[in-house]
Amino acid sequence: MKKTNEYIESVFTSSDPLLDEVLTSIRDNGMQQISVPPASGKLLTMLASISGAKRILEIGALGGYSGICLARGMAGGGTLTSLELVDDYANLAKSNLTKAGFGDRVTYMIGPALDSLEKLADRGETFDFFFVDADKENYENYLEACIRIAEKGALIVCDNVLARGTVSDESKAPTQNTGIMKAFNETVSNHPKLESLLIPVGDGLTVSQVK
Ligand code: SAM
Repeated sequence: MKKTNEYIESVFTSSDPLLDEVLTSIRDNGMQQISVPPASGKLLTMLASISGAKRILEIGALGGYSGICLARGMAGGGTLTSLELVDDYANLAKSNLTKAGFGDRVTYMIGPALDSLEKLADRGETFDFFFVDADKENYENYLEACIRIAEKGALIVCDNVLARGTVSDESKAPTQNTGIMKAFNETVSNHPKLESLLIPVGDGLTVSQVK
């Protein structure tokens, strides 16, 4: 998997100074380097663009790396709503999205994402594209909350579903996310409201379409 991903990154991604600056800003602020890798970011841009996404919801902003990738793919006039627990992270993400030219099209909601999702549902807001990349133990809750506010045909993309390869490779020592992600993948695959596939790019992304 590692070699395959290195190959994909080397052939299908190229230098991106703006995203490199985001990574530098994350490092300079003493934050963990846990943004999506470049190939996953490119896939997010392509999926948003191919699906014509106009109202994107992201769960887990960090420094705005995936937010920029999503915003690059969204349709003209589209908007990104991003849910982030940590105020300082959302501020950095907002500043990076502004540098990328998307400052007026992104809104951050600070606090536990499940609370923000409830607020969005209460307001009757709906979305046509979701990217889930926050605390793994809440993935099943996020999935249900996203389905509740999804438009028909919406895409729900969830990151880290391979748990560093441990969900499929028994020779690797399991991590605390291995069992969580195995169970999550089963839920996604068997969900009556979703048509889904796992794409083994980066740490693995499930891509689901809401029926
Ligand atoms: N999607 C980002 C990217 O690729 O640029 C990386 C997101 S990072 C893996 C996970 C983020 O989720 C962190 O910024 C963390 O603060 C946030 N997070 C963790 N638990 C959360 C929660 N309960 N509600 C909202 N955000 C949460």
